Amino acid sequence: MRDPLRKRVLVTGGAGFIGSHLCERLLAEGHEVLCVDNFFTGTKQSIAHLRDYPEFEAIRHDITFPLYLEVEEIYNLACPASPVHYQHDPVQTTKTSVHGAINMLGLAKRLKARILQASTSEVYGDPSVHPQPESYVGSVNPIGPRSCYDEGKRCAETLFFDYYKQHALEIKVARIFNTYGPRMHPHDGRVVSNFIVQALSGEPITVYGEGRQSRSFCYVDDLVDGLARLMATPPEVTGPINLGNPVEFTIRALAERVIELTGSKSRLVFRPLPQDDPRQRCPDISRARAELDWAPVTALDEGLRRTIEYFDQLLSR
Ligand code: NAD
Ligand code: UDP
Ligand code: UDP
Repeated sequence: MRDPLRKRVLVTGGAGFIGSHLCERLLAEGHEVLCVDNFFTGTKQSIAHLRDYPEFEAIRHDITFPLYLEVEEIYNLACPASPVHYQHDPVQTTKTSVHGAINMLGLAKRLKARILQASTSEVYGDPSVHPQPESYVGSVNPIGPRSCYDEGKRCAETLFFDYYKQHALEIKVARIFNTYGPRMHPHDGRVVSNFIVQALSGEPITVYGEGRQSRSFCYVDDLVDGLARLMATPPEVTGPINLGNPVEFTIRALAERVIELTGSKSRLVFRPLPQDDPRQRCPDISRARAELDWAPVTALDEGLRRTIEYFDQLLSR
């Protein structure tokens, strides 16, 4: 007989950075995992180690097209997350967030399945409130270079809450803040991967602007734990709920930590600040603490060490 605690779980974007860690965790908990990915930024390599699990299945599919299969829970993570990737084909980025959400919500509605959306701190744009609580409605440019991502994710949240109100769907919306860890893409232009790769290769560390802008960095295992806890909450808990590390660092301080931990001789070089680059971003995680009993446990130095080890191996292959 099938274990009643074992679920069939769909992870869209499962071959991506966060998705691959989530698939790993769900399999370790004994669930059946269906990973759906179009391999735009995800790779077969990031899920290669999961093929040994008979409960794991990967399907190549673009979620902007309808998808018919049978599952009990859906984590909707499909969407390129780094500016370099999501600005490569901005129309496809918006389609992935909007058409993708409609299709996954349609699937959840037909199956009466629980569905979780990987939203983002980018829905707050360049925030005028700091740190950002979930009640802050954001300050987003609708026609700038980041809009395809920010507005696409905002519209996906709208769809999630309207399916909840109109069709009584069980929804969960997580607003994810900057996350880092092993299996980040080495060339996706994000600050943690850029700095580590540059430090390990002895290249200059590219600080944009004066490096005084701040971010808060959450280690991927902590983040995945937050997603799993959110999915397990009772139906009245819908979010949106911030998931991120409330410890804030300037970009310059991050560069200095990476140099020290890698023992690199790289020096800092300053490059122009990209347009619409938020000056600061830090989550208020009171809601996650109260409703999920969750807070990140991995300190930046520890998470950076594990990430550096990953990139060190990757670069020496
Ligand atoms: P990622 O780019 O590594 O993963 C995204 C995955 O989605 C990739 O495997 C990609 O191939 C897949 N994908 C993209 N478009 C698709 C489509 N149309 N159909 C099917 N698959 C598609 O990014 P990530 O960092 O793992 O992010 C995962 C999710 O978390 C994204 O929704 C992202 O917006 C969100 N998020 C991430 C961060 C972060 O710091 N990494 C922060 C906030 C939110
Ligand atoms: N959909 C899907 N898989 C399903 C059910 C629906 O991909 O198992 C898609 C379908 O293409 C539809 C969308 O989800 O366009 C929204 O479904 P919904 O039932 O909300 O709307 P409708 O079918 O009435 O347009
Ligand atoms: N950044 C930087 N050097 C880099 C890459 C990024 O100084 O090589 C800065 C970037 O301008 C931003 C911060 O680091 O202020 C975080 O950038 P990332 O793209 O990682 O995430 P996001 O801007 O989406 O928070």
